[in-house]
Amino acid sequence: MSRIYLDHAATTPLHPQVQEAMLPYWAEEYGNPSSIHQFGQRAAAAVAESRAAVAELLGAEPTEIIFTSGGSEADNLALVGVVTALGHRGNHVVTTAAEHHAVFHTCQALEKRGLARATYLPVDRYGGVEPEQVRQAITDQTVLVSVMHANNEVGTIQPIEEIGAACRERGVLFHSDAVQTVGHLPLQVHAMNIDLLSLAAHKFYGPKGCGALFVRRGVRLVPLIHGGGQERGLRAGTENVPGLVGLGAAARIAQQEMAAEIPRQSALRDRLLAGLGERISDLVVTGHPTRRLPNNASVCIRYVEGESMLLNLDMEGIAASSGSACTSGSLEASHVLLAMGIEHELAHGSLRFSLGRDTIPEHIERVLEVLPPVVEKLRAMSPLYQQRN
Ligand SMILES: *Cc1c(COP(=O)(O)O)cnc(C)c1O
Repeated sequence: MSRIYLDHAATTPLHPQVQEAMLPYWAEEYGNPSSIHQFGQRAAAAVAESRAAVAELLGAEPTEIIFTSGGSEADNLALVGVVTALGHRGNHVVTTAAEHHAVFHTCQALEKRGLARATYLPVDRYGGVEPEQVRQAITDQTVLVSVMHANNEVGTIQPIEEIGAACRERGVLFHSDAVQTVGHLPLQVHAMNIDLLSLAAHKFYGPKGCGALFVRRGVRLVPLIHGGGQERGLRAGTENVPGLVGLGAAARIAQQEMAAEIPRQSALRDRLLAGLGERISDLVVTGHPTRRLPNNASVCIRYVEGESMLLNLDMEGIAASSGSACTSGSLEASHVLLAMGIEHELAHGSLRFSLGRDTIPEHIERVLEVLPPVVEKLRAMSPLYQQRN
């Protein structure tokens, strides 16, 4: 059975050229970039090259890129780093109710430790926030606004350029978790009024366990990890050289492939969403109809559990994901879907298909063939479906 991977929002396979670029750095090129000798200098040059590639992808300067262990660490560094550095000025953070847990739980942790107060802006039924809401939430105490570029569950793209402009107007720093968009959509940090931006290599065909935080020149941060002076003193620890070489290669490839992939994946996404809507009753598309990631097709299907659909799809070789995760035995609906005003029962039937550079029309047709009978079978066993009016 051929396996069909439609969970690229969770992680992507390594691009073959990324793998090739990384290979020498596992074995022959094992120097520590901080070392004076040639082993070290070759590793340092490779890391510098990656930093330049990431900077170019974002329209930033290489000195504005701080490498981290991934998206979560970049988010933590941005939030904790700014709140700690600016504690003398204020302690208020503005964010949204639809952020990734790496931002959401970090804000909650800062609140719990008494280091910050957070405002979680409500989102509309598509998961969007308005720049005006952000503007109104900013107070004299606000030190940071954090709004994700695109939502990882429903794909909605936020108007971050306008949000950034509102922050700049009020003299407040703006962070954006762009883990779902870097390498997928064009992004120019300076033109988009962004002060801090998080990215992760494994979401755009790079390796897991490495990412970066863009920190605009002049923005002061307190590090989370103390030690050697790596990453301009903002993130100690010997660099993950193979990983960073992979991140740099992924950034260069994304820059080349993006323009062709955006329309290609968008067309496949639209075909999938339209096809599902035609074949399955009581299905709603979640996320914004047009302002959404090219690779995100997310839906909620009434009278069925997302997890049951996933298991059935997996048996047919199709990998997707659901917003509702069965954590510690209880089925929890996604905070994102609930924040969008989707009722619990419907939110439990969420499914997310996230496409990638290896997705072909046949994969979409296969989902359209497999999912409707799965839904029918599960509904036949559902008391809620029998009792519907
Ligand atoms: C995946 C993801 C993260 C976390 O990134 P890791 O590299 O897995 O730590 C953060 N934010 C968003 C929006 C994501 O999709």
